[in-house]
Amino acid sequence: MSRQPGLIFVISGPSGVGKDAVIEKLVDADPQLERSVSYTTRRPRPGETDGVDYSFVSREEFERLIEQAEFLEHASYDGNLYGTSRQRVEELREAGHDVILKIDVKGAEQVRARLRDATFIFLAPPTMEELVRRSALRKTESAEERSARQMIAEKEMTFASHYDHVVVNDDLDRAVAEVLEIIRGVRSRQS
Ligand code: 5GP
Repeated sequence: MSRQPGLIFVISGPSGVGKDAVIEKLVDADPQLERSVSYTTRRPRPGETDGVDYSFVSREEFERLIEQAEFLEHASYDGNLYGTSRQRVEELREAGHDVILKIDVKGAEQVRARLRDATFIFLAPPTMEELVRRSALRKTESAEERSARQMIAEKEMTFASHYDHVVVNDDLDRAVAEVLEIIRGVRSRQS
């Protein structure tokens, strides 16, 4: 059953924790959920598609979008800019979708200040050692990028307590099931 407008679910967590895998499964499992495609100035990684994984833009274009108040939130992460399109989120919500925002902890703070009814979920690794191990398996980043992201990850972990829910990604299917339960709980309280 579709409602207007849809709910917002923010998902944050350190690089390598498995946010993309969790979100992909969530969207597959629940047709009412949609992910908002963010803008970034980061270069596409092999296998990433413009308009699907991100809208890849230059820094000049990103700054123009800031001036045009296009962003619901935006933040810099490891030297690149990332932002959520206000218009895309509104279009999805108006179409009756509940929207997932995969954003960093600084972006989440901005959304918290602007959208009081959003739900905030922090995806945590079972241990920091496991996070390092998983990140090393990713072949998409250089050793320098991985070590920068590891330092950011340690800072990001200190924000977990700001979130409504902390879900440990110890097992992908179990973590997805827990997030789905949270989402369904929020829906049933709203209806
Ligand atoms: P990656 O470069 O690995 O795709 O993303 C790096 C970080 O940027 C991740 O923590 C991711 O959640 C975050 N991120 C992705 N899109 C957005 C966005 O639109 N806004 C903010 N604030 N962070 C984002």
